[in-house]
Amino acid sequence: MKRTRLSAEQKEALLFRVLELYVNKRLAAPEITKKIAGELGLELQRTNLYPLLREGVRRGFLRFTPPTSDSLRERVAEKLELNPARIHVVNARQDKDDEHVAATGAEVVLSLIKKFSLCKPREPIHLGLGPGRATRALARNLGLAMRAELHAPKLALHAITAGCPSRSPMYAPLAFFSFFEPDIVAEADALFTEPVVSCAEYETIKQRPGFAKAFAKRDKIDIVVTSLGDADDRHDLFRNLHEGYEDTDPPTGKRKADSAALQDLKRQGWRGNVQFRPYSKEGIIHEAPHSFRAPTLFELEDLRNMASAAIDQKHPRAVVLTVQPCGRCSKLRTGALLPLLRVPELRVWSELVVDAATARDLLRQTAV
Ligand SMILES: [Zn+2]
Repeated sequence: MKRTRLSAEQKEALLFRVLELYVNKRLAAPEITKKIAGELGLELQRTNLYPLLREGVRRGFLRFTPPTSDSLRERVAEKLELNPARIHVVNARQDKDDEHVAATGAEVVLSLIKKFSLCKPREPIHLGLGPGRATRALARNLGLAMRAELHAPKLALHAITAGCPSRSPMYAPLAFFSFFEPDIVAEADALFTEPVVSCAEYETIKQRPGFAKAFAKRDKIDIVVTSLGDADDRHDLFRNLHEGYEDTDPPTGKRKADSAALQDLKRQGWRGNVQFRPYSKEGIIHEAPHSFRAPTLFELEDLRNMASAAIDQKHPRAVVLTVQPCGRCSKLRTGALLPLLRVPELRVWSELVVDAATARDLLRQTAV
């Protein structure tokens, strides 16, 4: 490309036009360079086009919305006696760093935002965001999807957990607020406490301003977006949090010894967590008074009650649960998901979004 200094807006217009000509108008590289020269006076080389296309996709000017599988959805619903209308199986291979489940999850959340907005047209929709890689990807996709909506309702954003391992601040819910354009954010509330606290002190901590102010608005939240953590995956953020706030492998490559808090959870049959709240294959786990826990706006009982309000006509609420393989080792999380589908006490979700490999593994593990 001939060296011409473009403003940020001119660069964006160029990226979009190149994508449009390549994808929508299906022009070949020589035709695109000719058109850009005529329209914008820029002399592009053919080799410049591909980096521009990649940059345009990265900036969200072209969104990938994967297909969903009706047959897998029906089979999972039948096998586990679930409502198929509440299940979304993403019919695409989900490799590391792929955001297919997140893109579908964002579409599900966007349709709920529009639906709930009909009940309160002039008020913002309150969105509660949890921690983690999957919710980060969903928030990013939702922010992009809402940019394209001309009459999208305004959002009130809430961080519903305090934090995450301190060396992975990008996975704290507060960090996801910046994915939403300022003009659609009516208000935003963080939850400021330490990410892990003593259970014995928890009731006192809840009275502190950083917690109490966020908690006072809890019942306004219309939609919670969450994922789950797998007790058998060493990359689980909840495990990392209890291992000393670090999201890193130990330098020796060996696993660290479990902390007293993790040993306590294991004794109780810990299988997974939602919003850093642990559960076994039988039901909710309550930490011992001498142990530690993450401060959160919602206990699992609260999420279950919220999920059951999905059909409430006056104040419908929703909990959107996305499940995908681990973003670091690709381990499926079926073992952690199954209790949330089988145990009534753990029905903490009203919409489930899963990748196809997890759906097939669910069918395999329940095929008896
Ligand atoms: Zn992993």
